[in-house]
Amino acid sequence: MSKVHFVGAGPGDKELITLKGYKLLKNADIVIYAGSLVNPELLDYCKEDCEIYNSAVMDLGEIIDVMERGVRENKEVVRLQTGDFSIYGSIREQVEELNKVDVGFDCTPGVSSFLGASSALGVEYTVPEISQSVIITRMEGRTPVPEKESIQEFAKHQTSMVIFLSVQEIEKVVERLIEGGYPEDTPVAVVYKATWPDEMALRGTLTDIAAKVRENGINKTALIMVGRFLGQDYNNSKLYDKDFVHEYRGNEDGEKYSSLRLRISHLCLQLW
Ligand code: SAH
Repeated sequence: MSKVHFVGAGPGDKELITLKGYKLLKNADIVIYAGSLVNPELLDYCKEDCEIYNSAVMDLGEIIDVMERGVRENKEVVRLQTGDFSIYGSIREQVEELNKVDVGFDCTPGVSSFLGASSALGVEYTVPEISQSVIITRMEGRTPVPEKESIQEFAKHQTSMVIFLSVQEIEKVVERLIEGGYPEDTPVAVVYKATWPDEMALRGTLTDIAAKVRENGINKTALIMVGRFLGQDYNNSKLYDKDFVHEYRGNEDGEKYSSLRLRISHLCLQLW
């Protein structure tokens, strides 16, 4: 019996799917894709006779039925989800249902949109001594958020934060970020449709970002990025500091030793 393949579609650009994901899509007999966010151009990779379902208009039961039928008929079934399915991907409920009907699955990860967004801006979330952690979160919507995980609570850390699914309430997000402790001049970026052709990136501070978001009519498919990693301050990492000795780049003696080690391993390879 075949399996269901969960595949991360990436953030938008059809070339940002993994090679493994692409191969699975190319071989698929059935694809169920998240039509609200997955770039439909990815479906160009599918065979002509591939059966295609848009999960945006299906409920969980219907999705599982299509998967189960496909697997029982020994077809290649791909569940194509936006970004990576481990972030707000509703994969847990699908997996639980598949377990109940004894249908197997495997997972091929994708590039999450929060990585598409940092690439769009050319920034690093973990700038040395500025921030070494990233909080991925959302504001409550129809899906509640545990109280301990409120934006205000997380804001206390003043680390890098990426907020999903919340741009439609940008004013409330900003209010909570300030209430939690970020200074009003903290840099903020909003990236709409990262890596899509109509991507838009807005930069500002907690004081003016909401107005910019409204002026540009952004109310969905966007991420709010907050923190000093977006600002002017930075420190170099130790990794490329010429005075910092580590396993791969030693001091002079160390260098001699590592080049000797390299030559020995080449020799071993040749002998082998
Ligand atoms: N699993 C997805 C997230 C799904 S939740 C991932 O890994 O990215 C849907 C939310 O993700 C959207 O409301 C938006 O906040 C964000 N999102 C998805 N694609 C995006 C993109 N290309 N650019 C900006 N935000 C995006």
